[in-house]
Amino acid sequence: MVKIHGTEKIIQKTFELGVSDVHTISAEAIPIEAHLAKLCEEPKCDGYGQSANCPPYGMKSGQFREYVKQYKHAVVFKFDVPTEVLLSEERREVSRLVHETASAIEKFAINDGYAKAKGLAAGSCKRLFCGEYEKCGVLTRDGDCRFPDLAKPSMSGLGINFFELSRLLGWQISKITKESNPDDVPMGLMAGMVLIG
Ligand code: SF4
Repeated sequence: MVKIHGTEKIIQKTFELGVSDVHTISAEAIPIEAHLAKLCEEPKCDGYGQSANCPPYGMKSGQFREYVKQYKHAVVFKFDVPTEVLLSEERREVSRLVHETASAIEKFAINDGYAKAKGLAAGSCKRLFCGEYEKCGVLTRDGDCRFPDLAKPSMSGLGINFFELSRLLGWQISKITKESNPDDVPMGLMAGMVLIG
């Protein structure tokens, strides 16, 4: 684990939340690539345009690159998940867990004095939290998120290169698609992060 002075308590808390691993990296090391954010649009993810936390809404990758400059560190965590689960409907439960974990770490960090702590997660919050509603609450006229304490911006939508990030952190990661055979690639992962200022 990379140890950065001041984040030890947050790392400890993150492990207590049941993650498979967590590292702290310098925020400026987060790999951000605009062309990856465009993959939400083409080929079109079913979360595209569905919530304020996914493209084309929210920050563009260039804005995110500037936004990250106000932070010193990023606490990045992962859950190791069997490929069979990632290829099934259960994937949603894992994705929801990533949002919940990022939210819990964000809250802990804020209480620990990092007032600007900002959690990011994987997957569309519309699918995970607002599936029973026709539209995202922020994108409709009332303008309020129904789950402000849980729903986090999508890391993919911000252009974070998760494969490169995993490489930097020493995590083994394979691309898993609908065609992947769990016998060949038995495990995958889902991850989230919290920016710490
Ligand atoms: S209202 Fe629902 S879909 Fe919109 S940002 Fe909040 S959780 Fe996501």
